[in-house]
Amino acid sequence: MPPGAEQNVVVLGSTGSIGRSALSVIEHDAGRRLRAFGLAAHSSVDLLVEQARTFQPRYITLTCPDARARINGALSGTRVELLDSLDGIIRMVQAPETDKVLSAIVGAAGLEGTWAAIEAGKTIALANKETLVVAGPLIMDLARERGVAMLPVDSEHSAIFQALKAGQPNEVRRVILTSSGGPFRGKTARELANVTPEQALKHPTWSMGPKISIDSATLMNKALEVIEARWLFDLRPEQVEVVVHPESVIHSMVEFVDGSVVAQLSPPDMRLPIQLALNYPDRVPGPCPLLDLTKRFSLNFEPPDRETFPCLDLGYEVMRRGGTAGAALNAANEAAVSRFLSSEIGFLDIPRACRAALDHHNFDPRPTLDALWRVDAAARQEVRRWKP
Ligand code: NDP
Ligand code: MG
Repeated sequence: MPPGAEQNVVVLGSTGSIGRSALSVIEHDAGRRLRAFGLAAHSSVDLLVEQARTFQPRYITLTCPDARARINGALSGTRVELLDSLDGIIRMVQAPETDKVLSAIVGAAGLEGTWAAIEAGKTIALANKETLVVAGPLIMDLARERGVAMLPVDSEHSAIFQALKAGQPNEVRRVILTSSGGPFRGKTARELANVTPEQALKHPTWSMGPKISIDSATLMNKALEVIEARWLFDLRPEQVEVVVHPESVIHSMVEFVDGSVVAQLSPPDMRLPIQLALNYPDRVPGPCPLLDLTKRFSLNFEPPDRETFPCLDLGYEVMRRGGTAGAALNAANEAAVSRFLSSEIGFLDIPRACRAALDHHNFDPRPTLDALWRVDAAARQEVRRWKP
């Protein structure tokens, strides 16, 4: 792609937190190089129609059939075409005009569209970390085979991606992912026994969708990110570390063999990593606030509390095991978060239910994609029936 060339972008999950930030980046670009070519959501009809009217994409799709029926004549007078469900997602990501696909559907539901886009050779801006947690080796093999660039949107992985440019792959000693510690940093397990979904949803530094907000409170988000980092950057498990950094200004670091640590800093705003991935390899001015280094502020670091937040160790274990372990952990976590959000299980039950599903699943070290979906379905079912 020549520098500055126009990019047709498909945004999968356009009505979500990442999707809306991406459209704000595209709006700020004002048609210079980024065009919203396709938008996909699940059931947020009104917002998707509003986005379609503003951005005039070629295609939109809704994966919920009832929601699709509600669109009716809302697009009359536009040239926007409404496509059908997952087939629609596949059609828009594989369209010859599509250059980049922002994968920002939440959960394992984001895998199929991402897979289809890689198969068609499209550049991927990857927010949906669950895709790599479930099927990291298969996805990365496919990307290599099709010569596809996997550009991270997750802020930690975007930071690592940028810091890695300071050396050669064989000069990396380790990557250090930063974690804000979430809303319950410093709390004991006893204090967390009765927290409500509302308390867990209040993140101190980031504003995000509900699933990842709960993942941030349990530290499962960091567990998923450790696995994501391993596959995305082809690291050995012992090369991936986590440090708690409550200010969320350093988004992650790379330590090289000579002891140099290279970090990326910016105010916590997801539009920056999204913008970098959409414009890569160029850097352009964008809508994000700048870091004011003339103000007095401090950056703090502490080790994660692995006893109170056992999800992190689940992530390390799964990263080391590979195979079907990621699919089991991810599906169990999605089901457990959903039960916690509807107040069926407690906050501390989330890691317990995940532990049980991980222990009971039939581990396969070299699964096919079909085998991963079977593990996903079984783990979800187990957690739906799991009793505290
Ligand atoms: P949200 O819950 O805010 O948005 C999810 C999006 O996915 C919505 O557009 C939703 O549509 C759509 N969606 C949900 N279920 C389905 C489905 N079954 N099929 C198709 N589309 C579906 O999530 P976030 O934006 O917070 O997160 C998106 C992804 O990005 C996650 O994987 C998350 O881990 C990752 N991420 C998010 C960050 C953040 O700051 N939010 C940071 C780093 C990574 P609808 O509105 O119609 O329900
Ligand atoms: Mg992150």
